[in-house]
Amino acid sequence: MVTKTFTVGLTGGIGSGKTTVANMFAELGAYLVDTDLIAHQLTGANGTAMETIQREFGADFILATGAMDRAKMREHIFSRPEEKKRLENILHPLIRTETELAAKRMQGDYTIFVVPLLVESTSWKQRVNRVLVIDCSEATQVQRVMNRNGMTLEQVMSIMKAQASREQRLQVADDIILNEGDLNEIRAQVALLHEKYLKLSETTETNSTQCL
Ligand code: ADP
Repeated sequence: MVTKTFTVGLTGGIGSGKTTVANMFAELGAYLVDTDLIAHQLTGANGTAMETIQREFGADFILATGAMDRAKMREHIFSRPEEKKRLENILHPLIRTETELAAKRMQGDYTIFVVPLLVESTSWKQRVNRVLVIDCSEATQVQRVMNRNGMTLEQVMSIMKAQASREQRLQVADDIILNEGDLNEIRAQVALLHEKYLKLSETTETNSTQCL
């Protein structure tokens, strides 16, 4: 069977507007696979990763709901790279499996994977046809995240420091959306890129046995 498998990896720093822009693409017919959402589900109540997390890290990291205590885990791994690695070793293979399953259920014109840490990852760049970076100034990022999450400047800065820099992201970008200013202007940029992706998806057909 021949199927459309054109894929875009959408990335950007915290607060750059990944979710906002991804939803605009979805409204136009792109199929979204949000790896952050998948990670949240895995560590939510009854999430597939919870049994292993409880066994490896102990009941202290589990909330009464059965979900992972994210705040506690974040604090625990923050200055312990080996513990961070231990958590990633549990989560990454599961995220990969769930992402592939979601991609197989693809409905729509093409697939957009929303991957916050695409540039930091060793494998994602090779797994997609194009990398789309949602870009904005660091000042805008800080302001948005402080407003959205009620975080302090220091908290936002420490998250940003642990992520790739704006320059590193722009270096791997095939396409860029500059998300500063009015949402209608962003929508216009999205519509143009959507047309481009539709055209590319028509010429990127392959056997359905080929997967990510
Ligand atoms: P990300 O998913 O990259 O962390 P979001 O899409 O959640 O970013 O955007 C961060 C915050 O900024 C949200 O509250 C969103 O509504 C707001 N936002 C994003 N883009 C714009 C924009 N162009 N104008 C105004 N607010 C925006």
